[in-house]
Amino acid sequence: MNSKNWIGGEWITPNAGEVVIKNPSNVREDVGVLHLSDATHVIQAEQAARKAFASWSRLTGAARADYLYKMAGALEARLVEVATLASLEMGKPITEMRGEVMRGVNLLRYYAAEGVRANGVVIPSNETNVLQYTKRVPLGVVGIITPWNFPVAIPIWKIAPALICGNAVIWKPAEFASLTASRLAEIFASIDLPAGVLNLVIGKGSKIGDVLLEQVALNAVSFTGSTSTGTRVAEICARRNIKYQTEMGGKNAAIVLNDANLDKTIPMIISGAFRSAGQKCTATSRIIVESGIYEPFVESLKKAVSAIKLAAALDPAAYLGPVASASQHKTVMTYVKMAREQADIVVEGPSLAEANEGNYIRPIVAAGVDADHPLIQEEIFGPVAALLKASDFDETIALCNRTVFGLSASVFTQNLAHAHRFLDEAQAGMVRVNQETAGVEYQAPFGGMKLSSSHTREQGQAALDFYTEIKTCAISYA
Ligand code: NAD
Repeated sequence: MNSKNWIGGEWITPNAGEVVIKNPSNVREDVGVLHLSDATHVIQAEQAARKAFASWSRLTGAARADYLYKMAGALEARLVEVATLASLEMGKPITEMRGEVMRGVNLLRYYAAEGVRANGVVIPSNETNVLQYTKRVPLGVVGIITPWNFPVAIPIWKIAPALICGNAVIWKPAEFASLTASRLAEIFASIDLPAGVLNLVIGKGSKIGDVLLEQVALNAVSFTGSTSTGTRVAEICARRNIKYQTEMGGKNAAIVLNDANLDKTIPMIISGAFRSAGQKCTATSRIIVESGIYEPFVESLKKAVSAIKLAAALDPAAYLGPVASASQHKTVMTYVKMAREQADIVVEGPSLAEANEGNYIRPIVAAGVDADHPLIQEEIFGPVAALLKASDFDETIALCNRTVFGLSASVFTQNLAHAHRFLDEAQAGMVRVNQETAGVEYQAPFGGMKLSSSHTREQGQAALDFYTEIKTCAISYA
């Protein structure tokens, strides 16, 4: 498959360079070719989006909803095809990828329904015969910059609310998710979405990302990616007074207290740490265990990790597949090496049964380093989890909060008082009791504290706040 830009309703193959995408499950196999864009494509996309905004923003919410319902139906009809392509492109196991595409379908339907929901409030006036109320209005042209680790769900959780609120979109996906992005655009084009309402521009973040942020008259930017890129995006947007949201990295803790039910806890810790090969912003990367349960926890964890199946992404039995790319493999392996040299290896999962040439990394749990060690402090974004022992509940909370990140955190306990204290005191945007750190539902706000976020939220009703501005209206009929 070849990638294509979709700008103003036209399919364009840009020619500012090519990248061959290798199957991360077997790097000898090519999945497709990316055709990279340059500044002219970004400028064309802005012009197309600006033109489309004029009419799209004037449609009724119900009319925009019709398009989103059709987008949902078209995506659902091609769920297996999209999931398979994404699994081939970035290595997420097919079982997870199918779930992710379905989440995209649900997000489209959820936001379609917003088209006919109340979008303001009546505020009593101090004067007689004055009607005072608020209404949401669209922002204009929104730049959407997405990462590769959720190649379907993250773009849709931005595009769907942006569109239903009446905005036009320029979407720049990550390189390692651009074939999937092209296929999604084709599917959305098939329902005759008006030209220019959604524009796809494929290319390198360092080139066209910069053009998008610096040279285009954007009204808002929604970014998901690493904290280093997101901080830069925020600086540029703040300087240009462009509304922005940045959802960034995490170093999420799962706390296991002495009274945790291990039979239920272990599968959730394993899933949080190793599904998607640990490449979720909400992945469990620190496991903080109270001393009274440490030994039995470690024994159960060893058994469970030893039974994990590492396999090619299209193998339905794969619990985790490869990491997404050669560069991702190189980065994560520096931490594996660090763990082998500087930490105690608690357990390492089995390697692939068959000979392979993929970007595979065996799941690994390390312990025995102090709380300031890079294995505990840095986002690894791979199947590497670190274990910390805490003497009591207060220490588990202190360790949980000892990080610059604040995306997600979980506690496993039967104690209601500890559960509530954790929900109050854990410094994370998403806090969960007896649930894994990953897996927040699409209708609930998603986002982080501290360096994980611009302190805005995505998904659910929170997204509507970002993709609109509130106008305060007053009418005198005296
Ligand atoms: P990344 O920061 O490398 O890239 C993210 C996007 O930004 C890509 O589309 C990339 O091309 C673009 N980009 C790169 N340089 C740019 C620039 N100078 N200007 C504009 N755009 C630029 O991140 P990634 O490797 O694609 O994704 C992994 C990261 O994303 C991890 O840190 C993970 O925690 C984070 N993430 C966060 C969330 C969340 O909601 N908090 C969700 C998923 C992933």
